[in-house]
Amino acid sequence: MIQLYIPLSFLGVLYREIKQSLADMERLFLLLDQNREVADTAKAVELVATGAEVRFAQVDFSYDPNRQILFDVDFTIAAGTTTAVVGHSGSGKSTLARLLFRFYDVNSGAITIDGKDLRDVSQASLRHAIGIVPQDTVLFNDTIEYNIAYGRTGASKEEVIAAARAAYIHDFIETLPEGYATMVGERGLKLSGGEKQRVAIARAVLKNPAILIFDEATSALDSKAEQAIQAQLKEIARNRTTLVIAHRLSTIADAAQILVLDHGRVVERGTHVSLLADDGVYAQMWQRQQVRQDEGGADGADVSAS
Ligand code: ATP
Repeated sequence: MIQLYIPLSFLGVLYREIKQSLADMERLFLLLDQNREVADTAKAVELVATGAEVRFAQVDFSYDPNRQILFDVDFTIAAGTTTAVVGHSGSGKSTLARLLFRFYDVNSGAITIDGKDLRDVSQASLRHAIGIVPQDTVLFNDTIEYNIAYGRTGASKEEVIAAARAAYIHDFIETLPEGYATMVGERGLKLSGGEKQRVAIARAVLKNPAILIFDEATSALDSKAEQAIQAQLKEIARNRTTLVIAHRLSTIADAAQILVLDHGRVVERGTHVSLLADDGVYAQMWQRQQVRQDEGGADGADVSAS
């Protein structure tokens, strides 16, 4: 049982916020069955994601019946490759990730992993197969060790340290007054955005999932921190099926596939090079970002906000 420092009455509110922020708190979900909008069927089987090919097949989706959010979204993330999604704010990028984690069911079409429809597998096995590095990682008011170990119940101290090293946060932790025993979170040491993302990366390394969702932070970190985090992510994304919700085009130039989402429809797809050659929406976004950089704006300004 995880340690909770939150009055139970707030869990419903928290649940909604977590869904919104894609925080990696699957065990918390297991405590919140009463709020579930999706449920395991009697015949639900265990998902054993091996290659982990992810497929969205003609997916339509709406949060509420009067407003459709996704229209006929159709794409495949080949096993072990990275697909990045870009698009304006509200175009539906995070919704794709929420559906892949099955916070909601699609209205029509299907999402499959290795050919298995998400509705036919147990949610516990689905969430076991997916690791999320969210924009804003939720830290518990506990030690930094606990916060990393949360990626996998029962991880040993050595495994936590190895994960921290892989996420390049070990040296930072060693400088803290009490090392791995330092309290963090609202009532402890506050970590910067970049440090929190590294904790999330360390959790993901520990979890070692077949599928990784990376929700890029909207607020640009300083470019050195950003580059370091990108390099680490590239390492852990290698040979893993990865969905990146991207806000800065500079970070996804080498993705195997880039999808451009516009008002819930995939309007362009290809690689960075092929999309620039197509001279369409993506090429315009890229040019706008270059201009902003030339004007001295933040390195890789958030294109989704425009
Ligand atoms: P951003 O880049 O700003 O994060 P996004 O492309 O990720 O945006 P989504 O979060 O997927 O966009 O939202 C797509 C649309 O769905 C938006 O219009 C949003 O208002 C709506 N939406 C998101 N969550 C909900 C919800 N829980 N209930 C109703 N509508 C929602």
